[in-house]
Amino acid sequence: MTLRILFAAPRRLWPEFEGPLNRAFARAGIVADLSPECDDPGAVDYIVYAPRGTITDFTPFVRTRAVLNLWAGVETIVGNPTLTQPLCRMVDPGLTQGMVEYVVGNVLRHHLGTDRYIRPAAPHWDARIPPLASERKVAVLGLGVLGLAAARALVRLGFDVTGWARRARRVSGVRTRLGPAGLRATLSGAEIVVTLLPLTPATENTLDAESLGLLAQGAFIVNPGRGALIDEGALLAALGSGQVGGATLDVFRTEPLPPDHPFWADPRITITPHIAADTRAETSAEVIAENIRRDLDGRPLLHLVDRAAGY
Ligand code: NAP
Repeated sequence: MTLRILFAAPRRLWPEFEGPLNRAFARAGIVADLSPECDDPGAVDYIVYAPRGTITDFTPFVRTRAVLNLWAGVETIVGNPTLTQPLCRMVDPGLTQGMVEYVVGNVLRHHLGTDRYIRPAAPHWDARIPPLASERKVAVLGLGVLGLAAARALVRLGFDVTGWARRARRVSGVRTRLGPAGLRATLSGAEIVVTLLPLTPATENTLDAESLGLLAQGAFIVNPGRGALIDEGALLAALGSGQVGGATLDVFRTEPLPPDHPFWADPRITITPHIAADTRAETSAEVIAENIRRDLDGRPLLHLVDRAAGY
């Protein structure tokens, strides 16, 4: 049987994903008619989806067995009332590796104080020796696929890592804290904070004036999670007072970040344009093909989104 699979992502992604998806389907024994066009929604078996793609109303897709999101974050689709089909998010080894590299690179930059040696205002022999990683308290907010991989990489480098999540887990080398009291314990005295939470009603403004006030004086923030995890006004105030020493931000409430946004003018903020970790076509195609194969074989789908929790 030929499956109708709709590629409902922005058209610019089609040339990148068409080949890898078709090859992955063939390897998984899936006979697929993969197309970015849809003249008959009622005949579509699976939807490969990305925000800003072609679908906002899923009602006509009466035969669709699952929507397979190309991105890890699902905040723009999870609340769509027309989506009654199962929704899977992306867990891609290529994306995870990219995020580990982004987090480790930016944590090491702040840990080593590299910025003060890059283009100093005047010749200045500042021979302060940075502490070792074991003397540096790092908080990782979110211990899911990405937070966990980043936390493990930081532990391998010797950092003193505390992680925060919703549900209990054991992670070798990482102190794990849960719930509101756990958040306070995680942030208290932290010198570098990495935010890898999904954006949900419960996580919006996790870093606000109160929680930023718990950090060590001059702490650094690395946010590749979502912009709205941070109260922007509170961050700017904390930077102004010196409570926060600097921030590397990859994600924003509005993207692209508007040219007149105050973040651009603050030299203590490094802006990266949502490039921390991209879904890689070759590796993510394997994940999508495997999920369809599982569904066809009557096995449970992987990476199902918990619609009530929002991630
Ligand atoms: P994930 O596997 O779903 O992990 C989410 C983590 O957040 C889990 O540990 C979860 O706790 C925790 N969490 C959720 N709500 C919480 C709450 N209210 N209190 C405490 N902990 C909470 O997601 P992921 O794959 O690691 O991705 C995380 C996020 O990274 C995505 O949602 C996306 O926003 C962002 N992202 C950014 C980029 C980029 O390029 N900048 C790329 C990919 C992803 P439990 O483990 O207890 O459930």
